[in-house]
Amino acid sequence: MKTFDAIIIGSGQAGTPLAFELAGSGLKVALIEKKHLGGTCINTGCTPTKAYVASARRIWIAQNSEELGIITPQRPTIDLLKVKSRKDQLIRDSQQSIRMGIENEKNIYLFEGEAKFVAENAVEVNSEKLQAAEIFINTGASPNIPEIFNDPDILTNESILQLDKLPEHLVILGGSYIGLEFGQMFRRFGSKVTIIEKGSALIGREDIEVSKEIHKIMEEGGINIFLNATSEKPIKNPDRSFTLEIKGQSGENKEISASHILLAMGRKPNTSFLNLSAAGIKTNDKGYIQVNDYLQTNRENIYALGDCNGKGAFTHTSYNDYEIIAANRKKAKSRKVSDRIPTWCLYIDPPLSRAGLNIKEALEKEYHILKAHIPMSKVARAKEKGETDGFMTIVIDKKTGKILGASILGTGSDEIISSILNIMYAKVPYTVIRDSVIPHPTVAELIPSMLEDLHEPD
Ligand SMILES: Cc1cc2nc3c(=O)[nH]c(=O)nc-3n(C[C@H](O)[C@H](O)[C@H](O)COP(=O)(O)OP(=O)(O)OC[C@H]3O[C@@H](n4cnc5c(N)ncnc54)[C@H](O)[C@@H]3O)c2cc1C
Repeated sequence: MKTFDAIIIGSGQAGTPLAFELAGSGLKVALIEKKHLGGTCINTGCTPTKAYVASARRIWIAQNSEELGIITPQRPTIDLLKVKSRKDQLIRDSQQSIRMGIENEKNIYLFEGEAKFVAENAVEVNSEKLQAAEIFINTGASPNIPEIFNDPDILTNESILQLDKLPEHLVILGGSYIGLEFGQMFRRFGSKVTIIEKGSALIGREDIEVSKEIHKIMEEGGINIFLNATSEKPIKNPDRSFTLEIKGQSGENKEISASHILLAMGRKPNTSFLNLSAAGIKTNDKGYIQVNDYLQTNRENIYALGDCNGKGAFTHTSYNDYEIIAANRKKAKSRKVSDRIPTWCLYIDPPLSRAGLNIKEALEKEYHILKAHIPMSKVARAKEKGETDGFMTIVIDKKTGKILGASILGTGSDEIISSILNIMYAKVPYTVIRDSVIPHPTVAELIPSMLEDLHEPD
């Protein structure tokens, strides 16, 4: 049995910085990683997808700028191998920088293998037993693969990023974040793309006006969309393509052929192989490790951070979990999960950026709200750019005048959303941003003007 001060299982967006933090404070830390250093974000999530999104946007601009006076003698085409090798290099750079950091930190002991609990304070990895006074679980999440789609030729967010050739017809099962980002990207690369969504709207948790606008953007981009539709078990053809029977809500069936299928049906926590019962750690019915506001499990000295605790599913939430743990070690209970304002972006083009509550959620929570709304077609900078899809909606609590949330769908929204978040974190009324002066011409300059004109929701 080897003894450490702390064991960290998983080198994701919380585990890695935490290892450096604890080691820097003089603790002897075991960091255990079963696959790739850096976890999902840098290997199969944010970094590779946003690298592909960047290529997809460049080709779209190159092919669609005649209106702005740009004539390309030949229609630009995609070199997927080059797109992929650029992405692979970005991944290698990140992995190497983490590995070098670990090699230079004498207090971090890296174990490359799968960890499982053998007791409340001990884990096993590669047949070695390690024990520590504190254990931090940061094992992330994986694609949800229903049994009928369990076929190595059916793609996930991981395997689609390994393709060397463009799919002829990519059928995507699931019309939410992952499905929409890959759908638009591969359509722009040149594949035919079909999205099958079982709900009645794309990205169904958003306000219906957001879902409808995204639907329009996707269809105008040439993507076929089936709503209220599910797929039976696909039939695999001898050439490894598939035939799918798509079932509509009212019983109508349609057969489609797919050169490739991508599963984008949500994620599940990586907790089933951890043997959590050996430590008596509780999970909920979906397998997420239950934690309190300070990320402590039901075992006092065991913490769960990142996607595996179900309190967030993003790099920034996982990193914030690390920050909470680090801050509370210096000053007890100084930071907690419930201080966090939910925020995320959907990196289609133009992006959707969200902060706090949307209209639907605010009404469900029985707030009395006012909304400010402006279509991008009325925003001068969007018109000048020739990118007028989308709108900005801000939700305000009538009682306190505080901003409850925003949905910004449009050019540059992924940067603009921070200005709304800053006001929300400052806990000041919306009038502070309404009365501010913003540089012209920007999309954000319309935020003060739209806040002059508040309405009851429809
Ligand atoms: C396609 C895609 C795109 C995304 N895009 C974005 C985005 O644009 N913005 C954003 O904020 N988020 C995005 N995300 C989500 C983001 O990647 C994750 O939320 C983020 O990586 C946080 O993960 P984590 O730290 O919880 O764990 P992870 O990064 O998943 O790391 C967990 C690590 O634990 C290891 N592990 C698991 N079990 C064991 C075990 N038993 N023993 C040892 N090691 C183990 C895993 O191998 C993994 O390396 C995206 C995700 C996907 C799939």
